[in-house]
Amino acid sequence: MKTYQQYIDGKFQGSHSKDMIEVLNPYTEKVIATVPNGDAEDAAKALAAAEKAQGLWAARTASDRASYLKKMAAAIRANRVELAKTLAEEQAKIIGLAQVEIDVTADYFDYYAGWATKYEGEVIQSDRPGENILLLQQPIGVVVGICPWNFPFFVMARKVAPSLLTGCTTVIKPSSETPCTTFDFAKLVHETGLPAGVLNFVSGRGSTMGNALVKSPVTSLVTLTGSVEAGQQIIKATAENITKTSLELGGKAPVIVCADADLDLTVKAVVGSRVIYSGQVCNCAERVYVDAKIADEFMDRMTKAMAAVTYGDPFNNPDMSCQINREQLAKIEAMVARAKQQGAQVLTGGERPSEPKTGAFYKPTLLGGCNQDMEIMRKEIFGPVLPVMRVSGLDEAIALANDCEYGLTSSIFTNNVTSMMRAVNELKFGETYVNREHFEALQGFHAGWRKSGIGGADGKHGLFEYLQSHVVYIQH
Ligand code: NAD
Repeated sequence: MKTYQQYIDGKFQGSHSKDMIEVLNPYTEKVIATVPNGDAEDAAKALAAAEKAQGLWAARTASDRASYLKKMAAAIRANRVELAKTLAEEQAKIIGLAQVEIDVTADYFDYYAGWATKYEGEVIQSDRPGENILLLQQPIGVVVGICPWNFPFFVMARKVAPSLLTGCTTVIKPSSETPCTTFDFAKLVHETGLPAGVLNFVSGRGSTMGNALVKSPVTSLVTLTGSVEAGQQIIKATAENITKTSLELGGKAPVIVCADADLDLTVKAVVGSRVIYSGQVCNCAERVYVDAKIADEFMDRMTKAMAAVTYGDPFNNPDMSCQINREQLAKIEAMVARAKQQGAQVLTGGERPSEPKTGAFYKPTLLGGCNQDMEIMRKEIFGPVLPVMRVSGLDEAIALANDCEYGLTSSIFTNNVTSMMRAVNELKFGETYVNREHFEALQGFHAGWRKSGIGGADGKHGLFEYLQSHVVYIQH
């Protein structure tokens, strides 16, 4: 069993409270590690360290700062197998996907290192003679990054890389469900020789440690990836200091399947999108609107494909493993029970399997006969359950897809250019995928509409979340 410590001001240290949080392997349901149950005092120490380090860090050249990101990428690659093992253990993520997450995270650090010579301010024309107006892009200051349990390593990098590159200093709080890979990374960060205080890792509950970090006047930007509820609490907690927030929250991604869709491609993409990491991915397919003209054939193929999804020990690389914990499983079971009461039909799955004996498993599930009034078509499931509704055509599909409190991702499967372009122009979501699974690129911009969030991550636009403008008028 591993015992982790917080990493504050370049030193590994416990919490003054001495209290520890146990971390479970969700598949074996055994304790694999402990982390300090950090509190407001630890939060204040980490923020003070970040504040103290920020001026000197920002004074370095961007290329110098980028050199540390490159060292982090190299350290991740040198430890890629061990990190993937830890990730698979703490999350019950299948080992193949855990390895992808580790490798993409290394790429992410390199990607943002490349921005060191590319991001720019502006020179604005003045209407006065003998004057220049400069628009500088300067680091926002101390960044608090709060991470979820579903992509703990990648999401950590999504916050650390642009923050450090732009000259901000950072305090990261992983989810107390999955802190291990992040704290293994803290050891690698220490070995890069990064100046003390530039990057700090703390642990603790959202309601105590998280709350103390976000409400502090030292914090200039809170970037959260998590649930809508946590986003709402953070907006309240940051109100007093008018602290900027960047929130990446839940989703209810619609999939539109048109009558002319390539069904081989569609079924493979939709099933893959629903069962990846046991359905616990914010951008994956959460509800389907299929044209009634092809609905029977589509449902038939989908039922077979969902029933063929394999599950089990994450180290045997099945298609998926268990849910993160028993609470998530209970939530999924309750949602399916209510959907059945409201008239949904279980076409495959719809229950816990008898094997494996440990781990909160739920069978890959397809629900037919769904309609827009059902909770299962409106609320995030975050599990391997896919509700499907038949529609009369594209007009109805787009209207129902948009009738949603979330606005993260969406997709359409069609071979008709007009249908595709109508969806692209009319779907009210931050991302739309055409004829492919739901998954974003690091050079894109991952940003939700409506309750799915404020601001966003990745690419050029993600970088600018960490910068603030400073306009300078020079009369000469
Ligand atoms: P969660 O909201 O329970 O927790 C996320 C993080 O926020 C944790 O570190 C938690 O400790 C912290 N937190 C909770 N309340 C807080 C508070 N009041 N103040 C400060 N910090 C607080 O989310 P989760 O269960 O870890 O993750 C699943 C959710 O995240 C799903 O809704 C999923 O859709 C969403 N998610 C979104 C994206 C995206 O990019 N939009 C990506 C991954 C996950």
